[in-house]
Amino acid sequence: MKPIYGLIGNPVAHSMSPDIHNAALKDLSLDGYYHAFRVENDDLEDAVKGMRALGIQGFNVTVPHKVAIMKYLDRIDESARVLGAVNTVRREKEELVGYNTDGEGFLKSLKPSLDKPVSELSILIIGAGGAARAIFTTLASERPKRLDVANRTPEKAEAFIQLYSGQTKAVSLAEAEEHLEAYDVLIQTTSVGMHPHVDDVPLSLARAKETCLVCDIIYNPLKTALLKEAEAKGLHTLNGVGMFIGQAALSFGLWTGHEPDMEKMKSIVLRKLGGKEC
Ligand code: NAP
Repeated sequence: MKPIYGLIGNPVAHSMSPDIHNAALKDLSLDGYYHAFRVENDDLEDAVKGMRALGIQGFNVTVPHKVAIMKYLDRIDESARVLGAVNTVRREKEELVGYNTDGEGFLKSLKPSLDKPVSELSILIIGAGGAARAIFTTLASERPKRLDVANRTPEKAEAFIQLYSGQTKAVSLAEAEEHLEAYDVLIQTTSVGMHPHVDDVPLSLARAKETCLVCDIIYNPLKTALLKEAEAKGLHTLNGVGMFIGQAALSFGLWTGHEPDMEKMKSIVLRKLGGKEC
């Protein structure tokens, strides 16, 4: 049987994952097909049973199922265990094994934009949700000089800093804004600025230093209001397309053992979003 891959989440109608995975399968002349399945919360257990019964080779997991799915899998890889969330499932013989490629996907997209190793950088993560946790944990393993977290709900940021034994602190958004000059890299991981609230920013960049790299993991819009502000100040910027492609390429590799052409994946996403990456 042709291998079947997929995505489960809700909503999934506008997901670009089928476009990039099916294009990569075709590009590498691999047999297989990737389909997005909308799954309601109450149907998650049955959906996983269905994936198992139908012999699906691998699937991605997105909001709102990344944590809830863990109890229905046979094993959780270390990459997902430390994050407490799964974004990729691979069938290994009769077992369904959960992985997480979000943090590594972000790091893959960040590294080409850095002129120093992560260990020499002071980094601020804005936000303390699921994506922030993946990024925080992955960056922590690279031992940055400083790794702080600013979040609207301070208790969530406090929980993060227990995960890094190096220099780290939790700050409010207002405190972060006041001391932005302390950071070489800012990583915006909140949903603030996402379509349709495209004029919103989580904080002002007025005090960011001239050499600061401003990353926003949002990719719709390609250029958030925060990235526009950064550009207007002459700062370097990175949007969320690279992370999206990075995590997808790692999932694809887990399932097929092949590395997809990330540039081709990126051009598909940019074409769909009708823009040019900044
Ligand atoms: P999440 O777990 O729901 O976390 C949301 C975060 O946004 C929390 O820190 C929350 O703060 C903050 N937030 C929400 N509304 C806010 C507001 N009005 N003011 C200040 N902070 C606010 O979501 P997630 O899964 O981490 O995703 C977050 C964003 O990352 C989304 O835009 C998503 O599309 C994007 N993302 C991109 C990729 C990629 O591949 N590029 C991958 C994953 C996620 P509180 O804790 O105070 O609620």
